[in-house]
Amino acid sequence: MGDLANCPSCGQLFVKSTQPICRECYQKEEEQFESVYEFVRRKKNRASTMGEVSEATGVDKPLIQKWLREKRLHAASFPNLTYDCERCGEQIYEGKLCSTCATSLQKDLSEAPEKDRTFAEKQEEERKAKVYFNVDQENKWRN
Ligand SMILES: [Zn+2]
Ligand SMILES: [Zn+2]
Repeated sequence: MGDLANCPSCGQLFVKSTQPICRECYQKEEEQFESVYEFVRRKKNRASTMGEVSEATGVDKPLIQKWLREKRLHAASFPNLTYDCERCGEQIYEGKLCSTCATSLQKDLSEAPEKDRTFAEKQEEERKAKVYFNVDQENKWRN
């Protein structure tokens, strides 16, 4: 027996098994996937945008985005089936962030440990900063 849970899609109580949503919603989603897939598979629809696909199939954009993220729909085959970067809204094909945001996030993460530097290290840095400051001042005087 699986656990009882509320379906995140329709709110109905269902037995949670391999699917995170209830059977009805799962089936509905599969049907929607089929119609989207049938649509974009056609050569003339390959270059459709997210909006066009959503409109033609009646399937909500977030669902199509989910399939792109899960790689059920291969973004490489459908060049215009892009979705918003979660941070800046830039059009992207895969993942959750555009490359700019991904890079800056990566940078933020790698810089984070700086906060954990010891007090001594910080003092040392401040001391150095002062030295440079003084040198700068002297140069100014000379000029
Ligand atoms: Zn449901
Ligand atoms: Zn972005």
